Amino acid sequence: MKNSNNILNIKTSTWARDSHGLYDYESHSTFKKQFSATKTCYIVRVGTEVQQTLNLTEAPGQEDFTPLCMVSLEKNEFSVLWLNEYLWSVVKTMRTKHGPGVALALDDVVKLGRVSFKITALRASPYQELSDNTQDSEDSFLQENQEKGVCRICLSDDSTAQNPLISPCKCIGSMKYIHLGCLQKWIASRMVVRNTSNCMTYSWKSMDCEICKSSFPFKIGSNDKDLELFKIDKPTAPFIVLEAVGSDRNRNRGVHVISISNDNSITLGRGHDADVRISDISVSRCHANVKFKDGSFILEDNNSKFGTLIKSGSKLMVQSTGALVLQAGRTVLSMSTKNNSNDLPDLH
Ligand SMILES: [Zn+2]
Ligand SMILES: [Zn+2]
Repeated sequence: MKNSNNILNIKTSTWARDSHGLYDYESHSTFKKQFSATKTCYIVRVGTEVQQTLNLTEAPGQEDFTPLCMVSLEKNEFSVLWLNEYLWSVVKTMRTKHGPGVALALDDVVKLGRVSFKITALRASPYQELSDNTQDSEDSFLQENQEKGVCRICLSDDSTAQNPLISPCKCIGSMKYIHLGCLQKWIASRMVVRNTSNCMTYSWKSMDCEICKSSFPFKIGSNDKDLELFKIDKPTAPFIVLEAVGSDRNRNRGVHVISISNDNSITLGRGHDADVRISDISVSRCHANVKFKDGSFILEDNNSKFGTLIKSGSKLMVQSTGALVLQAGRTVLSMSTKNNSNDLPDLH
């Protein structure tokens, strides 16, 4: 007899359009497919048709197939592994012990429509030290003692601990060095700061060196501590920092410093009254909320058109208690070990 736990029911819905890897949660133009898996396999999409295959190299219709994820059965438990950068958890189907949503953690990546942010700092109480990520620190930016150089902006060769000469980009020769202070001033002059009651937004078009075009790092390692290239005023209330990420270098870059007091909530969206304003057409006017509850920052979707997604470091397990809902490009997959027709939540 086959153990009924070893059957994974998979329901999929694929948006008819293929646009920026988005899925339209309001659209009725979707293709549905339902099947079950009983062993480790791959889920692939051929055109708008989602199917499973045991071997990626022998997948059907290879000229137009996209691997979506791998389903793994181990010790009677199904887990899902990503094959592409674009496998995300669907926030509106997630729950915390406080209700709908997901608790944010450091280094999570959140996606609203096609705009992605990384949680680069998160502090629940004003007394808790920020986690300090020093492993990336390199000393190579700092001027070697035996080298002589002058600042390419002020032409002085003074180098002090407070205002050292640094080499933050790929420029060489007489353009190699710049004072930390001179670079901070240059960066500050290019930043736009927008302030609402809950959110400080720092944005810039480009933080690239105008000569060698390499991008300046956020922090520069030194022996004692990291030198910050620009000063962010960190609030005393609980706060999180969302940093825009993405491969599109032409889009606005920015850092949102969001402070939320207890039991309060802030909005993210394209609307003018949003606390964190994201001007991208794929972002709904009031797209998502973040609230601070019992020491956790909870992200909730607000029935947005193109969804609120999250990618965290934790393993994607199919729990017996409910469906695991994932989005891979224009396909949403709902996976459950129960044969319950209500498991694909809220999708047309
Ligand atoms: Zn200088
Ligand atoms: Zn340069």
